[in-house]
Amino acid sequence: MNNCESNVSQCKSVLSPSRALIESIVRRSVLECAGQSARLAAASGDPLELFHSPAVEAIKEEIVRTGRKLWQRQYVDGNGGNISARVSRDYVVCTPTLLSKGDLQAEDLALVDMNNQRICGDRPHTSEILLHLEIYKTVPQAKAIIHCHPPYATAHAVAGVVPQGNLVPEEEVFIGPVALTPYETPGTQACAHSVHALAKNHNTILLGNHGIVCWADTVTHAEWYAEIIDTYCKTLLIARQLRPELKEISPDKIADLLALKKKMGLPDARFATEAAEPDKLEAAVDDYLSAVPTEQLPESGKQNSAELDRLVGLVTEQVVSYLEKEK
Ligand SMILES: [Zn+2]
Repeated sequence: MNNCESNVSQCKSVLSPSRALIESIVRRSVLECAGQSARLAAASGDPLELFHSPAVEAIKEEIVRTGRKLWQRQYVDGNGGNISARVSRDYVVCTPTLLSKGDLQAEDLALVDMNNQRICGDRPHTSEILLHLEIYKTVPQAKAIIHCHPPYATAHAVAGVVPQGNLVPEEEVFIGPVALTPYETPGTQACAHSVHALAKNHNTILLGNHGIVCWADTVTHAEWYAEIIDTYCKTLLIARQLRPELKEISPDKIADLLALKKKMGLPDARFATEAAEPDKLEAAVDDYLSAVPTEQLPESGKQNSAELDRLVGLVTEQVVSYLEKEK
């Protein structure tokens, strides 16, 4: 008989626990090991539970679909580009490093905290998450971010040319004046910091000698901005070949577009802006979370409590019948 077997037999001989005692031990173990307490579930405080909640699973599928779109439109090359979504005040879901966005699966995604620590997910996450986190920390309205390398917009970023404005209504309403950063090494804090002062008033930024980054309220909308800026840059290149001097939309008509844009709640450097305040950031994140339909949120405390009771009952039953057999 080895040590383990000897311990087990000693335990059997000294223990004849009541069902209530077994049940309380099982309940405590389930709560401690699985971290599934109803209180934590209701508060979405458990990152593992959050990561596998229906709401976040839906966002993961949206990221996967968007990855395919980016690859099909040739906005990402090799393993380039990355996508993220802010799923709570403290956590962001993001794409992994070294994987084509055309081959992305939901299980490849990771959950990281605002300090760039990977909390859930098996694959190492993108090093360019620093750029995303910088924007989330600066802009409360940013709930999703895409970084990619669409050829026409990236060509402008490489040439150091900010595309002329006031030429196409779509561009004015959804994006507006485009910002351009100086080059910084991708994946570094310096690259992340390069967008710090720009992100609040620009939902689309050209990254010098690199690509673009777009933020929006959803992953799908951030991808729309990538499409709009790249098509705009392409249209400009073609239009200039037809006529070097391009006629801009008149100021009064631009004012109409800006009024529409303001109604839609989109940012624009031409609007008078207030400084971002930390309490506003928190309030905006809370607004976002409270706007998620309740059926998409993790199971309510009540449902989780019933599920916990059922699980504890099942495990207790098995322990009791095991002890009965061993008597
Ligand atoms: Zn890049």
